[in-house]
Amino acid sequence: MQKIMAVNAGSSSLKFQLFEMPSETVLAKGLIERIGLKDSVISIKTKEGKKHEQTLDLADHDQAVKMILEFLISLDVVKSLDEITGTGHRVVHGGETFASSALVTEEVLKEIDKLAAFAPLHNKANATGIRSFQEAIPTATTVAVFDTAFHQTMPETSFLYSIPFRYYKEHGIRKYGFHGTSHNYISKETATFMKQDVKDLRIISCHIGNGASICAIKDGKSLDTSMGFTPLEGLTMGTRSGNLDPAVVPYLMEKENLTAAEVIDVFNKQSGLLGISELSSDLRDVTTAAQEGVHQSELALSIFIKRIKETIGAYAVEMGGVDAIVFTAGVGENSAVVRSGAIEGLGFMGVELDEALNQSNENRDSARSISTDASKVQVLIIPTDEEVEIARDVVTVQNEK
Ligand code: AMP
Repeated sequence: MQKIMAVNAGSSSLKFQLFEMPSETVLAKGLIERIGLKDSVISIKTKEGKKHEQTLDLADHDQAVKMILEFLISLDVVKSLDEITGTGHRVVHGGETFASSALVTEEVLKEIDKLAAFAPLHNKANATGIRSFQEAIPTATTVAVFDTAFHQTMPETSFLYSIPFRYYKEHGIRKYGFHGTSHNYISKETATFMKQDVKDLRIISCHIGNGASICAIKDGKSLDTSMGFTPLEGLTMGTRSGNLDPAVVPYLMEKENLTAAEVIDVFNKQSGLLGISELSSDLRDVTTAAQEGVHQSELALSIFIKRIKETIGAYAVEMGGVDAIVFTAGVGENSAVVRSGAIEGLGFMGVELDEALNQSNENRDSARSISTDASKVQVLIIPTDEEVEIARDVVTVQNEK
């Protein structure tokens, strides 16, 4: 038995879950927000239901990590810090360097810093989280788990854009894909649920949350995915536009007197469900308004669903068929409207949804099928768990050491 911490460090926040492995029991989880600002908020909850919430000033991630660890001791979750034998850190961009999780060394940290060119805010914050934990628990194995790593199996035909080849060679412009930890977890859980070898399955994993991406998984490997050079590509999301004609960029720059970076900011933060509905980025609000007949919300919901459906279609064709379509993340796990809309009309592919199962709230926390017995394709809901996947990777790397 050992204790492993899964960490997701943002620029001003830090989320963690402490696992007992190999049982995968969550001993404690927590969140610190507003790091480096006034009134940082720390909240921790233990397995026994003990809660600790406090508002205090935390100048940086080092202080935040020290605070978390002190609370874990005072809440009796650990007696001493060396009980935590490993920490696993979500790192957004692993470029072409990392095709799997990596034991963090000075070189690996340097590479993560270098890859910040592709994801400036994220990678820098992730590296800061790593350094803070290394300082606080020097005895623990530190592992970096990359959002992009799972997609490194994509063939050139999937990851290259149709632009001059030298831009790929000289600047690394290609599709990297994101949510890899989630898609990887989903592929394995799907195989377990279907009692089949993942290598024998063609899976379409639909991670639909505030950010959303779909992944075509064949032979247990990512064959294609909808996010690209950045997480902006692909589906319509909460506030991200997903695909659009890049020629819109210079046109909007001129019409709205914006810089290129400002236009991209609009595509990242003011588009998607929020942009079309002009109401909310939250699918629940948009669904309610659509059901009340508010036109722009109806449009936002329809476009959101259409993009999912067309991507499912594309990936089924790319894989020469599909065995399982899996929905996960906030929307995928909770919105029957989106699931049934995305599956509607796919009968020609042998996909048949059981609408009663789709609407049912039973067994919400576990993997379940929502397709009919006659359906040739399994439609599943599987709650994603990126944190447990991170903890599993830490154990794998520890065992390889
Ligand atoms: P995530 O990014 O995975 O946390 O997903 C967040 C999104 O899930 C929110 O913006 C909501 O739109 C959506 N969501 C959460 N709960 C529900 C629900 N019960 N029904 C529909 N959508 C939901």
